Amino acid sequence: MSPTPTGPVAVFRESLAPRGQIDVPYLLDFYPLQSEEHTRIHPFFKHLREGRFTTTRCKACGELLWQPRAVCSKCLSEDLEWVELPTEGTVYAFTAMVRGPPLGMEADIPFVIALVDLDTQWRPLRLLTRIDGVQAGEMRIGDKVRLKIINLADGRVFYRFTGQAGNAGQGTKR
Ligand SMILES: [Zn+2]
Repeated sequence: MSPTPTGPVAVFRESLAPRGQIDVPYLLDFYPLQSEEHTRIHPFFKHLREGRFTTTRCKACGELLWQPRAVCSKCLSEDLEWVELPTEGTVYAFTAMVRGPPLGMEADIPFVIALVDLDTQWRPLRLLTRIDGVQAGEMRIGDKVRLKIINLADGRVFYRFTGQAGNAGQGTKR
């Protein structure tokens, strides 16, 4: 099965300001090392820079893997392919982080963290992500959120989702 062609899509992006004088110890660094010499899933980060949200799928057993992996967690095959994921998802559950954020995110609290469901052609995929652009009090289960690419000051990238689709509070009322 081949990946669904997604074509060019508008993707939210944000560049974070340099952290300043504090170098985060490696084990406390929220963001993973991303270069080819550090990780076999380096294509994930290359794709993110291109505005693409991808993961690996096992060509031996067909399992869609999340997070992307170098070895299939179901059958241990290393014969994997990169596939495109949707860049829009639906909020399954959420909470707000108000204390004890990861290093470097102290100025951001409170912020929203959510379980987001993505529809893929293989199986539903549920991922944990930070949500920008909306406060917990405005969010509802069922809200649509969109991929947002974060450019870190040191050249790395990461992803969040954003509620900036303008439909905050339009999901299931609880
Ligand atoms: Zn497999």
